[in-house]
Amino acid sequence: MRKIIIMAGLASGLLFAGVTGAGHHAEHKHWSYKGSEGPIHWGEIDPKFRMCKLGVNQSPINMNRFIDAKLPDLQITYAGISKEVVNNGHTIKVTASGKNEVVVDGIPFELMQYHFHTPSENTLNGKHFPMEGHFVHKSKDGEYLVIALMFKEGKKNSALEKVLTYLDPKVGNKKNLKEMFNPGDFFPKKLDYYRYDGSFTTPPCTEGVRWIVLKNPVEASKEQIAKMHAMMGNNNRPTQPLHARVILK
Ligand SMILES: [Zn+2]
Repeated sequence: MRKIIIMAGLASGLLFAGVTGAGHHAEHKHWSYKGSEGPIHWGEIDPKFRMCKLGVNQSPINMNRFIDAKLPDLQITYAGISKEVVNNGHTIKVTASGKNEVVVDGIPFELMQYHFHTPSENTLNGKHFPMEGHFVHKSKDGEYLVIALMFKEGKKNSALEKVLTYLDPKVGNKKNLKEMFNPGDFFPKKLDYYRYDGSFTTPPCTEGVRWIVLKNPVEASKEQIAKMHAMMGNNNRPTQPLHARVILK
């Protein structure tokens, strides 16, 4: 039994009358998914990105080396909302607000944002899923945990539809999600998972990230996945060597 507690946020369903964020704010040096700014060059684009080249616990990975473990039930308490959506030029990103928490290793991690990759970044026995969602959490001490959720083609996904309805495809133009739905609306009923230690899959490729990959994919329609892909392109970093790592299952 995997347990999930999803509470309707107080603001759920309310119209949000905040100010729409304007413009494209400058990030660090430019990187992309192809050509001279592509993944194999990330480590040289900026000294801050050196872990992209030097790291030995990088993500994503091909999950094919498993150890049977008695992993504890995933304790997710999402009581907050999905607040704002933006196409930041690398991904479609939704910021979260309110108390959305997962406790792993006795440490509470709070959801900051979630975003998408087409096709999936992590692969299972060499196979990609058509899309992967990353729910990025941070602890008080600044440690990161990502819950990865795979999407397969099937029924229309109602949570994804809300994201698609409110987002502006134009890069950098933040929009409020006018229906403040719970980020946990994306998750499958059963929260069985794989676990491994990895990194951010984008520069600066910071390591020490706890990865929780949900075993059960959820469905999204062919049209929804095609729309996401049309906006993001192929935004998957190639899988990285496992080196000494194993994947707990
Ligand atoms: Zn990601």
